Amino acid sequence: MLPFDVLTAGSLLIMAASSPSSLCMPPEPARINVIPKSEEIKYDYSKNLAALQAQSVDTVNPYDFGSITHTKAFMRGSVSMSPSVRVGYKDFTAQGASCIWYDTINIEIAIDPTIVIASEVYADSCMRRAVLEHEMKHVNVDRQIVNKYAQIIGQKVYNGLKERGFSAGPIPTPYRQAAVDRMNKTVSQLIDLEYKKMNIERQERQQAVDSLQEYESVGKKCPSFDPGRISASGARLR
Ligand SMILES: [Zn+2]
Repeated sequence: MLPFDVLTAGSLLIMAASSPSSLCMPPEPARINVIPKSEEIKYDYSKNLAALQAQSVDTVNPYDFGSITHTKAFMRGSVSMSPSVRVGYKDFTAQGASCIWYDTINIEIAIDPTIVIASEVYADSCMRRAVLEHEMKHVNVDRQIVNKYAQIIGQKVYNGLKERGFSAGPIPTPYRQAAVDRMNKTVSQLIDLEYKKMNIERQERQQAVDSLQEYESVGKKCPSFDPGRISASGARLR
């Protein structure tokens, strides 16, 4: 239906070897695998303009406070970051000691966007096109964010774990589980911090798409669009 830009960045794989002097050498270097994913865009034309006004829009309205604004469409969906960590270990029963190491860390960064367009807007071919073009700018911002942070997150996790070591031990076996828990938690914490930074950047860049200039230019593309119920001034897109 629309030109679909696939994500340009492929998966990122980092092989992280423990230092050779480590007493607990893992059998293989740790694998840090970052997988950016963009689901196909879904479309929802089922709601009319009145119904769309009840939905909350998370960018700041560029119009002045006296303007009457209406949401014509918006993009729904967030960027998710889900890590899964596999840790390997070996017990040395005679010594009562264990070695632990990162085996594989998979981090999936995904967007699953839905473009919601009011049924009245969808029925007007000119405004439908203009609004879709605008919403695609939001989708593209998210795709760029996913690509950018796929690179950043792989490096940050690598650096963070390198400081602490890709393997641990030998430690007394009764403490093995506590060490595994800490290794899992460390990955989550490293990712959480980047996730927060990513969301701030995403919000700023999505806000930049919703400029007054952009709204006015979309409005001017279809001067005859009149669904009857909305006033001419300041229709909101999001
Ligand atoms: Zn918008």
